[in-house]
Amino acid sequence: MHSYDVIIIGAGPAGMHAAQALASRGQQVALIDDNPAAGGQIWRGVNNHATQSARAALHSPLITTYYQTRVIATLAAQQLLVETPNDAHLLHYRHLVIASGARELLLPVAGWTLPGVTGIGGLQALVKAGMPITGKRVVIAGTGPLIWPVAAFLRTHGAHIVAIAEQQSLPRLVRFGLHLARYPGKLWQAMSYATQLIGVPFWHDSHVIAISGTTHSTGVRIQRGEHQFQLACDYVALGHHLVPNLDIAQSLGCATTPTAITTTDLLATTIPHVYAIGEARGIGGLDCAIAEGHLVAAVICQDASASAQWHQRVQTERRIATAIAATFTPPHLPPLAADTIVCRCEDVSHGQLQHAPDWRTAKLQQRCGMGPCQGRICGAATQHLYGWGPDAVRPPLRPARVATLALLHAISPTAE
Ligand SMILES: Cc1cc2nc3c(=O)[nH]c(=O)nc-3n(C[C@H](O)[C@H](O)[C@H](O)COP(=O)(O)OP(=O)(O)OC[C@H]3O[C@@H](n4cnc5c(N)ncnc54)[C@H](O)[C@@H]3O)c2cc1C
Repeated sequence: MHSYDVIIIGAGPAGMHAAQALASRGQQVALIDDNPAAGGQIWRGVNNHATQSARAALHSPLITTYYQTRVIATLAAQQLLVETPNDAHLLHYRHLVIASGARELLLPVAGWTLPGVTGIGGLQALVKAGMPITGKRVVIAGTGPLIWPVAAFLRTHGAHIVAIAEQQSLPRLVRFGLHLARYPGKLWQAMSYATQLIGVPFWHDSHVIAISGTTHSTGVRIQRGEHQFQLACDYVALGHHLVPNLDIAQSLGCATTPTAITTTDLLATTIPHVYAIGEARGIGGLDCAIAEGHLVAAVICQDASASAQWHQRVQTERRIATAIAATFTPPHLPPLAADTIVCRCEDVSHGQLQHAPDWRTAKLQQRCGMGPCQGRICGAATQHLYGWGPDAVRPPLRPARVATLALLHAISPTAE
């Protein structure tokens, strides 16, 4: 077993800054992420000055990085079972920082399982990984602040953005804009995206009602107020803002809400020695994630003056997060047809689910959420569609090798 002062789960901006700030105060840190490199969602594959210096700061003898490593189980006595590409390890911590980030909320609509339909961030990730987008016609639809940077990114990479269909109403979006005006940096960022998107049709109060195509998406039907439009396109990027990754916190027994891990102002969860930062603490954006990385290091190391300084910064960022949460609420969508797929791993349709009383029954009787994504996509969708609460989280938290499960059984026979 390896022992660390602090284990950080998630090497996104929050986790990276926490690791660097903890190591600079002499702490032995382990930084775990399931991706091949640090960077999280926003810095995946990005090589600019900010990301290079954040990555360089992790080259410290006090920081051990575990990439391509997944947390499989949280165990008693402050231990984690993790699986690396070749092995499984038991890690022990004095303090645990959950920086597990967020994922997109994807809500089903007719045709959303066709190739060519992706999440908004998902399409960006594919293009960052090398998928050619030049000359492709893209419709971006749904809701959330992610729409703007991704649309600008895709356009810069040569995509033809056919239209942006945002579900929120104009007054709501204007209120958000007025709120942003209090923060010059954010306003500047928003203006820069808007400038990059000059000429792209932007529709508010609009949502996708069906995506058409046989072997690939070729078109999308959009409802805008009383009117419907059919748009021809190659890709549909669809997303309904973000939901935090709560499974690790829930498996530890930390209190959570559907939108955040519950913490104090100083980032402590309801379980001693466990902290939460970044998007896992509620969707707050990049600057908030970075500030919370610094704050958690100051709190753990009892550095009172740094705590006070970063706490103030976090408070400001969280005020913006509150405005984001109030603006980009998941929409009330029109009723789904019975044959619309809800669980895309196991091909379970709305008709098979709509009368199920809860998530557990849907899993047991229909295999909803039992496929490779383990409910990461349809779990949040069914919470939204049917109001189902999440089931108790049990190990393994991610699909694991048999050898890892055998180790888990040997350590904790009642865990699986
Ligand atoms: C798909 C997507 C695209 C985005 N694109 C943009 C953008 O273009 N512009 C923008 O301003 N903001 C974007 N955001 C928002 C932005 O990513 C966040 O504001 C910021 O990255 C938050 O940082 P974080 O460290 O809290 O989380 P993240 O960056 O999400 O990092 C969390 C990390 O934890 C890892 N992880 C989670 N669970 C486990 C586990 N069990 N085991 C191991 N590792 C785990 C994840 O793989 C991830 O690398 C995007 C978000 C998403 C979800």
